[in-house]
Amino acid sequence: MWSPNQMLVLALVAASSFTSVHVLEFCQSTDRDCHSDDNHDNMASNSQPSLHTVKSRWNVSVSNLIKDLEQLKVSSKKLIEAFPIDEVNGNFARSVKNCIFSKSIPTPLRGPLRLAAASKDVIEGILDLDVALTHTNDFLHFASGDKLLSGSVPLAHRYGGHQFGYWAGQLGDGRAHSLGQYTNRKGEVWELQLKGSGKTPYSRSGDGRAVIRSSVREFLCSEAMHFLGIPTSRAASLIVSDEPVIRDTFYNGNVKTEKGAVVLRLAKSWFRIGSLEILSRSGEIDLLRKLLNFVIDEHFSSINSDDPDTYLVFYSTVVNETANLIAQWMSVGFAHGVCNTDNFSLLSITIDYGPFGFMEAYDPGFVPNTSDDEGRYSVGAQANVGLFNLEKLLNALSPVLSKHQQNQAQSILKGYTNINQMRIHQHFKAKLGLLGEEEDDGYLIAFLLKMMEDTQSDFTMTFRQLSEVSAQQLHNRKFPQMWALEDLSSHKLFSDWLSMFLLRLSRQLNDSDLQRQHRMKNVNPRYVLRNWMAESAISKVEMKDFSEMELLHHILSHPYVTQETAEELGYAARPPLWAKRLKVSCSS
Ligand code: AMP
Ligand code: MG
Repeated sequence: MWSPNQMLVLALVAASSFTSVHVLEFCQSTDRDCHSDDNHDNMASNSQPSLHTVKSRWNVSVSNLIKDLEQLKVSSKKLIEAFPIDEVNGNFARSVKNCIFSKSIPTPLRGPLRLAAASKDVIEGILDLDVALTHTNDFLHFASGDKLLSGSVPLAHRYGGHQFGYWAGQLGDGRAHSLGQYTNRKGEVWELQLKGSGKTPYSRSGDGRAVIRSSVREFLCSEAMHFLGIPTSRAASLIVSDEPVIRDTFYNGNVKTEKGAVVLRLAKSWFRIGSLEILSRSGEIDLLRKLLNFVIDEHFSSINSDDPDTYLVFYSTVVNETANLIAQWMSVGFAHGVCNTDNFSLLSITIDYGPFGFMEAYDPGFVPNTSDDEGRYSVGAQANVGLFNLEKLLNALSPVLSKHQQNQAQSILKGYTNINQMRIHQHFKAKLGLLGEEEDDGYLIAFLLKMMEDTQSDFTMTFRQLSEVSAQQLHNRKFPQMWALEDLSSHKLFSDWLSMFLLRLSRQLNDSDLQRQHRMKNVNPRYVLRNWMAESAISKVEMKDFSEMELLHHILSHPYVTQETAEELGYAARPPLWAKRLKVSCSS
C-alpha cells in the first residue's frame, strides 16, 4: 500500500506528537459568534472596511448606551470584602504577606495624552459605553490612571510564579491596577485593569510603566485572539503619551528612550496559577482556601462547593481547559512567548501578551522571544509547558487535598497530554475539512506538517489556501497566485499527500466541495497579527498617526473574511523581506 517514500514519512510521523485518537466531535470554541458574519467566505461586501461601517455585533441601540463616565458603576467592594488587604500603604517595593491585594493608587501617565485606539466591541458590548465617550477628556484621564470612578478602589494583586522553570518568589502586579468589577447589562462581571499605570508594592526594580511598542501589541493581539475565537483577556483602549520611558530592549546595554502608554484591559478574572502558588509556598493555607473558594464560587458555577472533592473537580477543570487553550493556540500557530506560571490564567484564558508571535514558516521550534535563549517556550513546546505549569498548580493545591485526592489529581494530570493531543488532532482535522474519523487522519495531518516544515511553507496561508482552492484545482495542481501552496507543492512527496487527501475528501458522503471550502475558511484565518504588521503600525503610533493601527484592528476583527484593504496592504501576501530581521524580547 505504501511507497518507499511514504514509509519514510510514516517513520517520521511515528516520532511526531500527532497521534490518531478516536474522539467525539467537539465545538472549536464557545465563542464562534465572534466571526459569524454572513458574507464569510466572500470578499467583504463593503469593499472599504471602516470602523464606522461595521455593524456592532451587540446590536445595542446607541441611545441605551452610557454617555457619562460617572454612570459606569465599577466596584471594588467584592474583592476588598472577600480578602484581607495589605496593611501597609504606599507604592514602594516590598515583600507582602497574608493578603491577596494591596491598595495602590495609579501614577497617572503624564500628558499630552492621546487615544490611540479603542475597541468598540469592548466599549459598547462589554462596558455598555457609547464609543463617542472615548473621545472625551474624562475618558482620557480615566483610562490613563488620572481619574478614579466613584466605586473604584485601585488594587495591585499579590502573586508569585515559576519563571523559565524556577520559582521566582513574589512577583505581583508591578505595573497594573485593578479598578474593580463591572456588571454589564447582560449580567456578565468583568474586572477592569490598567496596565502601565505606575509603581505598586510589586514593582521590584521596575518603573511601573509600559512602552507604546508592547502596549500596541497587547491591544491588537488580545482583540485579534478574541476574533479568532480563542479565550483571551480583552482590550478596551490604548492611551499614549510623550512620557519618556527608558528601555534596554535586547538587554545589551543599548538603552533607548521610548514613550509610555496605558492599556485598559478586561478579564472575567485576572487570577493566575501564581496567585495560588505564593499562598501555598508561604504556608498561608487559610488564605489559599479562601481564594480557591472565591474563584470557584465566582467562576466555576458548575462545581458544587459542598462536594468534598470540590478542589479536585476544580483542578480537573483547569487541566482540561488549559489543554484546550493550548490546542487552540497551536491551531493558529500562536506562541505566547513567556509561559511562566504567573502568566497562566486559572480561567484558562490567554493573558499577559508580551513577546508573542504567530509562526510564519512552519517550524515547531519557532521561538518568538529573543530573550528565550534555550527555546523553552517554542511554539511546539507549549503543550509540555502546560503540563509543567499544571504540575505546579497541583503542588500549590496539595495542602488542601487529602493524600487520596493528591493521587487522583496525579492521575488527572496524566490525562492532560492525551486531552491536548486529541484537541489538536480535532483542530487540524477541521483545518483540513475532514469529517468523521478515519484511521489514517493523524498520518495525513502529520505528513502535511512535515512537508510544510521541509518546504518552510507559511502556516497560516497554507491552510487558508487549501480552504480556498477547489478539489478540481488540486487535481490539476493549479494554484494561481497561491504562494504558500506553491511552496508546499515543491516537496517531492506532495503528489503522494495530495492523492491521499483528495481520496479522503472523496469518501465524505453528504459533503460538497463548496461546503468543504466554507467549513475550512471558517477555521483557517486569512489574517493573523504578524510581527511586521504590528511593527509597521507601532512606528506610526509612535509618530502619533493612529490610522494604520485602526485599520489593522478592524481587519483583525474579521480574520476569516477576505478584505480588499487587507489584500492591498499585503496582509495575506508573502511577508516582506525586512520582516525576517524583526526581533521581540521580554522588554516591554
Ligand atoms: P511579565 O513577564 O510581563 O509577565 O512580568 C513579570 C513580572 O514583572 C510581573 O510581576 C510584572 O508586574 C513585573 N513587571 C514587568 N515589567 C515591569 C515594569 N516596567 N515595572 C514594574 N513591574 C514590572
Ligand atoms: Mg505577566
